[in-house]
Amino acid sequence: MTNLSIRNAVVTGAASGIGAAIATQLAAAGASVALVARRQDRLDDLAGKLGDRTFGVGIDVTQQESVENGVRKIHERLENVDLVVNAAGVMLAAPIADGRLDDWTRMIDTNVTGVLRLIHAFAPDLIKAAGDGRTADLVNISSIGAHAIFPGYAVYGATKAALTQLSAALRADLSPYDVRVTNVEPGLTDTELATHLDAPGQDLIASMNEQIGPLHADDIADVVTFAVSRRRELNLRQIIALPTRQA
Ligand code: NDP
Repeated sequence: MTNLSIRNAVVTGAASGIGAAIATQLAAAGASVALVARRQDRLDDLAGKLGDRTFGVGIDVTQQESVENGVRKIHERLENVDLVVNAAGVMLAAPIADGRLDDWTRMIDTNVTGVLRLIHAFAPDLIKAAGDGRTADLVNISSIGAHAIFPGYAVYGATKAALTQLSAALRADLSPYDVRVTNVEPGLTDTELATHLDAPGQDLIASMNEQIGPLHADDIADVVTFAVSRRRELNLRQIIALPTRQA
């Protein structure tokens, strides 16, 4: 069985879906895990189930002050963070013609700038951990939407394409320090993501679910747990995890 008992992890998006599943698997493998999202009650519930080595820290990744306060709290509990998973994200239907600047901004702030805020906050920890001879991982949850085209979802796709490119480019900055960077691109996965969509968007996802059969959040957590538990000389850089029927 995978043993991650020496790892100190931060998982964003841990209030639900893929982030919660990743946090659960890392904790089951023995890691200490800081659970990050906005809904503190959800994080506390999950931490209560996962045990003393886990704790919830309410952070809104779109707000720099919230990130700084939250990172301070995480550092009080976890001195040496060596594993950061950026799973917080939001998907909204925002056709360009509608000009929903607030929705575009929310997606860009959460899916791109929010991830950058966390990377900036924890890159020194990761570099130090690797310098001390420990395994250090940055894992970004992008999307098949970085490549696939969905009408009305151009801005979401653009945020995920940016994240995929960011992950690839960051290896140039971090791999010389022995910090691994893994970009995961899930396909259709059964989570709360679609609940933020308007009615036509929810109908679209419901029909995709029926035709394709979505992955479970645990499937993505399996992939992440596998990647971070390889020997430190092996970096799985890019993983695309699709339901078998998703073309
Ligand atoms: P969920 O909606 O279940 O999870 C999203 C998580 O992000 C929640 O925990 C939410 O918690 C958190 N979050 C959202 N906004 C913020 C914010 N401003 N600050 C901090 N946390 C925030 O969806 P998924 O689990 O599906 O999404 C996880 C990732 O997977 C996303 O990046 C998504 O784009 C990606 N993905 C999902 C796919 C799918 O089909 N489900 C496919 C491909 C990629 P809270 O609201 O409490 O802040």
